[in-house]
Amino acid sequence: MRIAIVSDIHSNVVALETVLNTIGTVDQLWNLGDTIGYGPRPNQCMATMRDQATAMIAGNHDLACIERVDLSDFNADARAANIWNGQQLEPAHRAALETMPPIHAVDERFLLVHGSPREPVWEYMLSRDQARDNFELFEQQVCFLGHSHVPLIFRRQKNGTCLNPTIPAAGDTLQLEPGVRYFINPGSVGQPRSQDPRAAYAILDTDTSTVRFMRIEYDIAKTQRQMREANLPTALVRRLEYGM
Ligand code: ZN
Repeated sequence: MRIAIVSDIHSNVVALETVLNTIGTVDQLWNLGDTIGYGPRPNQCMATMRDQATAMIAGNHDLACIERVDLSDFNADARAANIWNGQQLEPAHRAALETMPPIHAVDERFLLVHGSPREPVWEYMLSRDQARDNFELFEQQVCFLGHSHVPLIFRRQKNGTCLNPTIPAAGDTLQLEPGVRYFINPGSVGQPRSQDPRAAYAILDTDTSTVRFMRIEYDIAKTQRQMREANLPTALVRRLEYGM
């Protein structure tokens, strides 16, 4: 089975459509949350994902846009964009987010979460120590997560040792090994932060037990125009071209 994994789309429909057109036909599409917030097209991104995603969870920005988490936890620009996104949101998309969990067990092998198993909405999984503690909190071999917008791989070896995270390059393929457990972040579709402005996503092949990390250029200027038209904060518009 071929499964596309996307995360942190952040209302960037230009990036999302570019990714989906590039992926082509897949058996499943998993979305790790933060579909909205920051960007200019919340309704289109929600409509596309609710239509196409076979699994979808909520992130901190999704919940902030519908006032389910405290907006004061965000900086001024993110807060302003979340308020604007929430105002645009059609009732059906709002209702979908109201009941959407931030964590979802696909099956006995794969877990999806926005932040971490310990704190599904908020924890940024960035260090080996965090990974070590979080591996204790779920049973599956692989947990896919988003939130930090940085493609990362954490491994727990067969002997229980956790390794420092590695950053996969575009096109890298990770072979999932029996007995080894993983946290895998595919990176962000709509607001990449690893100094590479291209949209990031991953392809899981369950037949070969591989995860391929992908990058694709999209029309950043078009998203920026849409953001300026919506009067979204300038810093959020600019960061897209730097990948920060
Ligand atoms: Zn995000």
